[in-house]
Amino acid sequence: MEKKLQGQVAVVTGASSGIGAGVSRSLAAAGAIVIVNHPVAATRDAAEAVLAEITAAGGQGITCQCDVSKENEVVQMFADTVRQFGTVDILINNAGLQRDAPFTDMTLEQWNTVLGVNLTGQFLCAREAIREFLRRGIVPERSKAAGKIICMSSVHEVIPWGGHANYAASKGGIMLMMKSIAQEYAGKKIRINSICPGAIQTPINKQAWDTPEALESLLTLIPYQRIGQPEDIGNAAVWLASDESDYVTGISLFVDGGMTLYPGFSTNG
Ligand code: NAP
Repeated sequence: MEKKLQGQVAVVTGASSGIGAGVSRSLAAAGAIVIVNHPVAATRDAAEAVLAEITAAGGQGITCQCDVSKENEVVQMFADTVRQFGTVDILINNAGLQRDAPFTDMTLEQWNTVLGVNLTGQFLCAREAIREFLRRGIVPERSKAAGKIICMSSVHEVIPWGGHANYAASKGGIMLMMKSIAQEYAGKKIRINSICPGAIQTPINKQAWDTPEALESLLTLIPYQRIGQPEDIGNAAVWLASDESDYVTGISLFVDGGMTLYPGFSTNG
């Protein structure tokens, strides 16, 4: 594979599982040095396993424990990364979770946990990344941009989702945070975009694909007739982080097999 991101330093949050692990592998294969973030000590082994795959394939990186919803831990993660590798070039704002409940049963804790990780976590990481991009400025040998941020949103930034109001609110929030900061920092040559995955086969949505019946039901929502894989998101992330997308900022890139094409209307509604 062509090394489109050779030597660039990429922080990937929530990289101990699923999409974050897949994106980490793809960025490393494209030449990036990857900071494989995981939230707590209990997931260190999972993050180490992702790093082992990266190094076995000839890539580079480290693991880093940090709960993205905690300001002091996020500040520390970026300070440690800059101390060790000199800078940060790419942030993949990926960490996310669900705490599902019918709206009238939803607890404040469920609401705050989802907003705290999915939205506030992205705010805290983006703020630290942009501070570092502004400090360093453009280094033409690395990239045409001073820095790139990719926010992991969801088709649920536009598709309402009953029983998941906290999750959908967090993803809708990501959309306008992303566009606002993309607008604010475009003049500084910082590019900020979102990827909106459809259904990707990871632990977060296991109940939607782990039986033939569940998978068949899921596929009625996906015109392209297959569930997505973390590599599908990894390929999109490499492109959005590379200079091939240098004129792209402030977009939501839907990688969803057509899930947002209103498949219920495909046979006349
Ligand atoms: P996943 O397999 O459950 O992975 C989520 C990752 O986030 C895990 O590594 C998890 O660590 C980490 N994480 C959770 N809380 C964290 C915190 N406070 N600080 C740092 N890391 C934290 O789910 P996924 O499917 O890969 O989801 C990744 C992102 O894609 C999420 O933002 C999700 O909303 C989005 N997404 C997924 C899909 C899909 O179909 N899979 C669709 C649309 C959007 P632990 O394992 O230790 O909890």
